[in-house]
Amino acid sequence: MLRGAGQRARSWLPLGSPETEFPEEWRACLHQHVPLCTVLPEGLRRSHENLVLKFIARKPFIGCAGLEVTEHMRVLIAGHACLLVLARGMSAYAQVREILVYPGEFVARRAQVGSDGVVQEHAQVLRGESSSLGQVVLSWADVLSPAGLGHNLVVHEFAHQLDQAKGGANGAPFTFASTPQRQRWAAVMSREFEQHRRNTALGEQTLLAHYGATSPAEFFAVCSEVFFELPQAMRYVHPALYTELSRYYRLDPAAWVGAPGERR
Ligand SMILES: [Zn+2]
Repeated sequence: MLRGAGQRARSWLPLGSPETEFPEEWRACLHQHVPLCTVLPEGLRRSHENLVLKFIARKPFIGCAGLEVTEHMRVLIAGHACLLVLARGMSAYAQVREILVYPGEFVARRAQVGSDGVVQEHAQVLRGESSSLGQVVLSWADVLSPAGLGHNLVVHEFAHQLDQAKGGANGAPFTFASTPQRQRWAAVMSREFEQHRRNTALGEQTLLAHYGATSPAEFFAVCSEVFFELPQAMRYVHPALYTELSRYYRLDPAAWVGAPGERR
């Protein structure tokens, strides 16, 4: 079934052809599971659908632990992932090699060198993972049922991919050309990260998940989740942060949400 779906997507996509028919059932799936799709301006909606087609045609999905990756899963995951590159284009995911999908949480084995020089292996239960070798690993159960408001596992892991594209992830994925732009990003992100760490340490309720306080890389990934899931709330609570992410992603999702007649 996986193979069939891949062949089908490829058959629709003579690569380089910008106008490929987007299946109505895929559109319905996106509207049901990727709420931002229902408020995208028309031009961006077409761009998003073209990106989803390209993503599915070019990126292999691999089912793990007995999971059979269905067309529905591929469309939903691609739909979330393509939001991040809506303005930047598919080349931003050039390093993404494959997407591994587990039915639920999975165990990752880590090797760690102790202070005595002995390598020890330990197991870690994860919902998602992004490697600098271009591999994204997802728990399907958590893709389908986010941990809470503002959470989005696919956005989180693919934000790591953007961050890792230049090498190790450090929360500075930018390709800003000018020094002032880079300095502004660094100043805003550092200030907001430190504030978030203080709030988290005090156990305060925050718009951004506490997990974002663990490192600058996790902070960027968590911010990206809220940027795409609750853009208006982020613009209101963290206006400087919203502005920087808006400049980085070259998108203004808060402006799409809540217009008369639109639903979110
Ligand atoms: Zn992470």
